Amino acid sequence: MPFFSCHLLFPTECRDEFRRLMTEAAKYEKKVMVLDFVTPTPQGSSWGLGGTCVNVGCIPKKLMHQAALLGQALQDSRKFGWQFTEEVKHNWMTMTESVQNYIGSLNWGYRVALRDKKVTYENAYGEFVGPHTIKATNKKGIEKLYTAERFIIATGERPRYLGIPGDKEYCVSSDDLFSLPYCPGKTLVVGASYVALECAGFLAGLGLDVTVMVRSILLRGFDQDMANRIGEYMKEHGVNFIREFVPIKVEQVEEGTPGILKVTAKSTAGDQMIEGEYNTVLLAIGRDPCTRKIGLDKVKVNINEKTGKIPVNDEEQTNVPYIYAIGDILQDKLELTPVAIQAGRLLVQRLYAGATTKCDYVNVPTTVFTPLEYGACGYSEETAVEKFGEENIEVYHSHFWPLEWTVPSRDNNKCYAKIICNIQDNERVIGFHVLGPNAGEVTQGFATAIKCGLTKEQLDSTVGIHPVCAEVCIQNHLKAHGILG
Ligand SMILES: Cc1cc2nc3c(=O)[nH]c(=O)nc-3n(C[C@H](O)[C@H](O)[C@H](O)COP(=O)(O)OP(=O)(O)OC[C@H]3O[C@@H](n4cnc5c(N)ncnc54)[C@H](O)[C@@H]3O)c2cc1C
Repeated sequence: MPFFSCHLLFPTECRDEFRRLMTEAAKYEKKVMVLDFVTPTPQGSSWGLGGTCVNVGCIPKKLMHQAALLGQALQDSRKFGWQFTEEVKHNWMTMTESVQNYIGSLNWGYRVALRDKKVTYENAYGEFVGPHTIKATNKKGIEKLYTAERFIIATGERPRYLGIPGDKEYCVSSDDLFSLPYCPGKTLVVGASYVALECAGFLAGLGLDVTVMVRSILLRGFDQDMANRIGEYMKEHGVNFIREFVPIKVEQVEEGTPGILKVTAKSTAGDQMIEGEYNTVLLAIGRDPCTRKIGLDKVKVNINEKTGKIPVNDEEQTNVPYIYAIGDILQDKLELTPVAIQAGRLLVQRLYAGATTKCDYVNVPTTVFTPLEYGACGYSEETAVEKFGEENIEVYHSHFWPLEWTVPSRDNNKCYAKIICNIQDNERVIGFHVLGPNAGEVTQGFATAIKCGLTKEQLDSTVGIHPVCAEVCIQNHLKAHGILG
């Protein structure tokens, strides 16, 4: 039974997951093929095997966030007794080369894993041309036809452009930034998505002059109280914000690496126009699913015409029974690497190992790697109010000051934790939010507890680990709304 995949990809650090899956495929003696092809960006950037997360997503952005945190650590270190006399400055090229070398090693690891597991890999663009039939076109334009019993589509998303004069000619996206062969200099980040704020955050942390142009709100879909606290912190740490403006034109003033770009923007609240000059304009206004040019109409797979997303049932099956879809292209699902991995792994086990477990998309934790990191799991405050009613939820919260930040006198009262409980259900925790160092590490364990049905009482009866940030969440440190500790 051949098992073809347009792009069956298990990216990120999860090489072990990837290997496990391929072992499983081999174990079931299925013939598996992976097609992966990167269409270059308008600026010409492209990359290797592994998808968005490894090449132009989670991995490079977390490493560059770490580069920025190290700059802050250098400043803090003086108060801890470190003395250094040399001028401290950051070298963009050294960082980028190190990050790209690491990514190269991951790309290589994937290729080896595929070969070991006897998975056929083709660096070719896949598109359906008829029932059970796909056309693969490689870089040289050579076309091959393949047939398969089943297909899994995981073609992901690519950055959206503004559709204004100069955007594709002069602007970059996150697909270009992590391998940019020169320091971006004074940068305008357009957008308020997590990608926008994370990139703005690390660029500012590296010492660059950064402005974020926001159309309306920060971090749509996330808890807005937390989003605004992130914005405040970034502002206090040197990121400029232009609120309620959108660019309408980008012109080149001077060529170069980087050159100078003039951006004209219009108010969303009136007719006011502004202009500004930047070395680099980074567009981070959202991402569109790669579903419109893969021949889905030829096999009659339904997509949401407006968003391009693919609706699936709770077994990741499209309306065409032999075609499945996972990852960022799914309608109403979270766009996160571990979600795509979990969905793919469970799908294969259901298809070929008689398993029945379905992917659970509820209470998925996530972290935004802004300078003040934000970990979240479950409902935002506004969604909880909407779903359960204000009278049925209780919010507990507290500021906290990480011990490590006290000696360098850094940012008292900026770190913050908040949980949202369902009063009608024994004060079960339905939302967990934390702003502070290592927020992802803090959130991961609480996410497991939430999955197990964590209540406020259980949090309060848990003994803390001292002195760590996460202890703010337990032993009665979090107080009901209105009583800030
Ligand atoms: C800047 C940034 C930071 C991120 N940070 C995080 C994070 O910290 N944590 C997290 O969990 N998630 C993060 N994400 C999201 C994460 O990268 C995605 O959720 C994840 O990569 C989705 O996996 P996927 O398999 O659906 O698609 P992708 O990883 O996008 O893989 C799709 C692959 O299919 C290829 N392809 C497309 N069309 C075709 C075709 N027709 N034929 C052959 N190949 C094709 C694409 O080139 C690509 O290689 C980030 C994303 C971005 C952009």
